[in-house]
Amino acid sequence: MSSEKTGQILNAFCIDLEEWFHVCEASTPYDDPKTWDSAASHVVKDTEVILRLLDEAKAHATFLTVGWVAERHPELIRRLNDAGHEVGCHTHFHRLVYTLTPEEFAQDLKRSLEVLRQVSGQTVISFRAPGFSMKRECFWAYPILRENGITVDVSVVPAPRDHGGIDGFSRDPILLHTDAGALTVFPLSVLSALGRRVPFSGGGYLRLFSMPIIKYGFRQNHRAGRPVMTYIHPREIDPQQPRLELPRLKGFKYYVNIASTEEKLRTLLKTYRFGTVTDTLAGVQSLPDYQLVDGDIVPMGVRVPPGTGRLAQPAI
Ligand SMILES: [Zn+2]
Repeated sequence: MSSEKTGQILNAFCIDLEEWFHVCEASTPYDDPKTWDSAASHVVKDTEVILRLLDEAKAHATFLTVGWVAERHPELIRRLNDAGHEVGCHTHFHRLVYTLTPEEFAQDLKRSLEVLRQVSGQTVISFRAPGFSMKRECFWAYPILRENGITVDVSVVPAPRDHGGIDGFSRDPILLHTDAGALTVFPLSVLSALGRRVPFSGGGYLRLFSMPIIKYGFRQNHRAGRPVMTYIHPREIDPQQPRLELPRLKGFKYYVNIASTEEKLRTLLKTYRFGTVTDTLAGVQSLPDYQLVDGDIVPMGVRVPPGTGRLAQPAI
């Protein structure tokens, strides 16, 4: 570890482990999972690049893995485990949570967890919804996650966003109490500028923004004593991936600056301390208590009249 990193807050490094054709909310030739086996697989070679970067930085990460991918590439998941990385769950068929019924969600979750636990040998306690699709209307998913042994959710974007996004949600991790037990909700990092919240630390935002903006985001969160969560998809470092025909804005966000992602990640990993989601949360001093009331997330001990729509509020 370089001396400038010593004493720095630990940040979470996440990889959403999926194929290049796992797109959310856009019609492609691969909408139906039955077509997936006919597509060229890039996930192993792309993940190898990310593993090399993590290895160079001597950092561990959390790989939120699509169950279907773990079924096709069990050796990759075993390698992640052997290298000391954490394996989390990214559902089985990569469907947006709010497009499913609670029964469909539970069925998909169980299937993916069974594969992931068997192949990785890990308990698998962390979860990310595809496309960060956790919205207020699907908070019913939390007790289902907890019943199935998930104790950390990393699906909330506390800012407006196309697939999900809960503007006004706490920027700090919270402890959410449900009838099935408690789980930690660790929201994606955002930066606040001109009265707006904007993600900066992962995916298309990370590829689009310049390093000074990204560093500003890290600084703002670290000053509040808050770790940053970074995320990347294997396809985002692969300029050779097949190109999908996507709507104009979606296509721009999907492919912008792919050629420079690898170098950007190398810079990030050199500049900041990164670890798994679990290791990062271990360094968080205390988690404010929240509960699910009438399908909403509210601070514990606060009486909230039903239907007022009070969400988890920022701790600062
Ligand atoms: Zn995904």
